[in-house]
Amino acid sequence: MRGCQKGGDVSEPRRQELLRRLPSVDELLRSGLVRPWLERLPRRLVVGAVRRVLDRTRRTILRAPESELVSDGELDAHLERELERALREVGSYRLRPVINATGVVLHTGLGRAPLARVALQNIGRVASGYCSLEVDLDTGSRGRRTGIVRDLLCELTGAESATVVNNNAAATLITLATLAAGKEVIVSRGELIEIGGSFRLPEIMAASGARLREVGTTNKTRLADYEGAIGPETGALLKVHTSNYRILGFTEAVPLEQLVRLGRRHNLPVVDDIGSGALLDLSRFGLTGEPVASHSVRSGADLVLFSGDKLLGGPQAGIIVGRKAWIEKIERHPLARAFRVGKLTLAALEATLRLYMDEEQALREVPALRMISEPDTVVRARAERLRRFLGGVDGLEWVELAQDTAYVGGGAVPAQGLLTWTVRVRAKSLPEDGLAARLRTGDPSVLARVQDGCVIFDARTLNDSEVELVAEAVKLALQPRADAP
Ligand SMILES: *Cc1c(COP(=O)(O)O)cnc(C)c1O
Repeated sequence: MRGCQKGGDVSEPRRQELLRRLPSVDELLRSGLVRPWLERLPRRLVVGAVRRVLDRTRRTILRAPESELVSDGELDAHLERELERALREVGSYRLRPVINATGVVLHTGLGRAPLARVALQNIGRVASGYCSLEVDLDTGSRGRRTGIVRDLLCELTGAESATVVNNNAAATLITLATLAAGKEVIVSRGELIEIGGSFRLPEIMAASGARLREVGTTNKTRLADYEGAIGPETGALLKVHTSNYRILGFTEAVPLEQLVRLGRRHNLPVVDDIGSGALLDLSRFGLTGEPVASHSVRSGADLVLFSGDKLLGGPQAGIIVGRKAWIEKIERHPLARAFRVGKLTLAALEATLRLYMDEEQALREVPALRMISEPDTVVRARAERLRRFLGGVDGLEWVELAQDTAYVGGGAVPAQGLLTWTVRVRAKSLPEDGLAARLRTGDPSVLARVQDGCVIFDARTLNDSEVELVAEAVKLALQPRADAP
């Protein structure tokens, strides 16, 4: 057998003995440990978990160095622990809710924007049965699904028309493919962005069939640079918001209005990829420099592109607003079918956009906006409540309230933090990484920051009902256990 040490290995009989002692799948299914799980879970899941544990254990017995071969009692305890772990794993969903105590509001790894309550309700209402996805109920005729949110998007941005695709990367790709396949698209060198590895503007451009024509330098691009590059091959002018970085110091970029005037003179469409898609001006909350969709439309961009799940605070989507003639062409492009959104997305997006019809309501009910706009006194009170709960937890060496910086994240406003309040803790007998790992793998799962030897809980990305849950999770994580990770 592979992994088995041959010839003169004195441990061989011991390995064979341990293998013989391993129970069969059937024996384990009848055991007191596994049987209860058969009542809760499909047999197939349980059998799979048991088989995997037995296979793993068999391999371990064959490969373990002689000095690590276990006693019979240890073998039983090992099996029990492994079965417990494997059954717990198949007993829960892979995609699970987590508590975000990281202080990063639009955390891409944690699903970016949490949805507003009405958006969730609308998904449930619409998707549990049939819905009016592509049927106009007044006339009975077949329509386009994107018509569901078109009027709302026009109203909120001032655009002539609008459409929706799967995400902003898809919005960029289909827009370039429609406007400029086989032609050149002029972009400033300072705006050739990469968002999280897989979205690189030059690569999206290549996939669209358009040719990238870079102008200017990394830190300075002038109107004359764009103008000098315009020729018979030019298909569009593209401006891209440098979402996740800022070029500071000796810099110059061309304002959208000037680019629009240039485009008009040469009869070329101007596209503005604004990234995070703020529908409200968030500068009153200290977030400056994030373009607002309606401002870009007013400045005359022919098409404005943005994400649905960044600052807009809705479902993952790519939103395109602008000139009716271009939107119609985009919707007729073959990629429109490949990139189309489903009814769940449209249900969530329609409900989220309706909240924006009343700005104050949007700030209260769109979770991402609430977290960003919440006054720091409210955040501080929440942190203090968490500190009080944690103050009573055995096993913590100290617990301390601290002022700190939270971030919008999701590739928005990289250089500006949000004033926030955190609770920093250190455990008596567990390093900070260990505590963070236990919190992450617990139920509920809690994600916190680890820094300066502490685990840090940021109250800006928590809601009031999560405070006690976090404290409970810490208490649980600090209880002594046999199978400590
Ligand atoms: C985030 C971002 C994208 C990609 O958007 P997704 O919705 O994540 O596909 C594209 N362009 C800019 C400027 C962005 O900030």
